[in-house]
Amino acid sequence: MSRNRIYLCLAHMSGKEQQYIQEAFDTNWVVPIGPNVNAFEADLEAFVGHDKPVVALSAGTAALHLALVACGVGQGDEVICQSFTFCASANPIVYLGATPVFVDSERDTWNMDPQLLDVAICDRIAKTGRKPKAIVPVHLYGMPAKIDEIMAVASKYDIPVIEDAAEAFGSEYKGRKCGTFGQYGVLSFNGNKMITTSGGGALICPDSAAKHDVMFYATQAREAYPYYQHEHIGYNYRMSNICAGIGRGQMSVAHEHIAHHRHTTALYRELLADVEGITLHENPSSHFDSNYWLNTIILSPSLRVVGQEIAYSTTINGAVGGAAGVTHVAESLHTDCEPNANVEAMRVALDRADIEVRPLWKPMHKQPIYATSPAYTNGVSEALFAQGLCLPSGPCVSDDDIRYIVECICNAIER
Ligand SMILES: *Cc1c(COP(=O)(O)O)cnc(C)c1O
Repeated sequence: MSRNRIYLCLAHMSGKEQQYIQEAFDTNWVVPIGPNVNAFEADLEAFVGHDKPVVALSAGTAALHLALVACGVGQGDEVICQSFTFCASANPIVYLGATPVFVDSERDTWNMDPQLLDVAICDRIAKTGRKPKAIVPVHLYGMPAKIDEIMAVASKYDIPVIEDAAEAFGSEYKGRKCGTFGQYGVLSFNGNKMITTSGGGALICPDSAAKHDVMFYATQAREAYPYYQHEHIGYNYRMSNICAGIGRGQMSVAHEHIAHHRHTTALYRELLADVEGITLHENPSSHFDSNYWLNTIILSPSLRVVGQEIAYSTTINGAVGGAAGVTHVAESLHTDCEPNANVEAMRVALDRADIEVRPLWKPMHKQPIYATSPAYTNGVSEALFAQGLCLPSGPCVSDDDIRYIVECICNAIER
């Protein structure tokens, strides 16, 4: 029997995307403005609620960049950022000449530890005499952060919060959508996210004046003269009307996608219940309602996996993962912070069975690019990174696929 390879999270079209793109072609709106952009933004505003205006942009990374600009971040400033995340949460801080200050996670949600956040802010004020300019918590893998506690610390020091909800489209905390708690909220519609525009993102804004400002900076900051007059540095970050057509089509199936991701979690839970040494990451209480963008598991360090003695014995050719683009050739078999041998052996075993799995994000405070950035750590994200894997979770993953994946996981465990 031959199977197609099972990927972490592939895009899945509703069918309406083509119709909206065709309309854009027919009306010659093949620019980063137009009816699809307006309609997509209206759809997003209705979806996130709370009267929050939304700006459609070319990427989630662009949304983060513009949110930092809106918070006044510049050269020499410090911005607090969750360490356990994808690099796009932190890189735009550096684009602006500011320094990220990393804060570790708590065990329940794997996101920014509110108590450690408080410690970090106090210590930065003591050391630099200045407050950090913004706080970037992340709802990683779709799991809502302890956002009430984070907002309480932020308001105690009067520091704006930029929620990175790139992976948390549709996730809710106490019945409210992630991305609507902070001053700004970031969404991503990259090809592998909950919904896609092929590539794109959005910024959830506090009010229409803020939306206006974000649109100004997203379109090269042009002053109102008959000629191009520039008094601020702007960016070319608006979403194309073509991409927004895909987004409109995706919005018609967004609820189905989210429901499907949650369904995959329920099935993994059922099938993994009796598998000793493997723990599925789940909502810690009824306050949290993850979209389960990616299902994640923790492998107990004592779990023996077939082939773990020879894990890391060959270098990786190309990136682990799907549309990762160009990567450098790895210079060594090991780094000073890597997943345990049993985790790497499980990744290899599943890869051989044509199942794409991936280690959890490597904490930013362990990345060479951020070696000199201040970090407030508690060991949680490093332990999770050492023990965790992401499992296929997208709309193209069937019940049969999940049974096969769990079967392969069980077969890879040494008895
Ligand atoms: C994907 C992602 C981003 C960036 O979104 P892009 O649309 O790819 O630029 C930011 N933060 C996190 C946590 C992400 O997973």
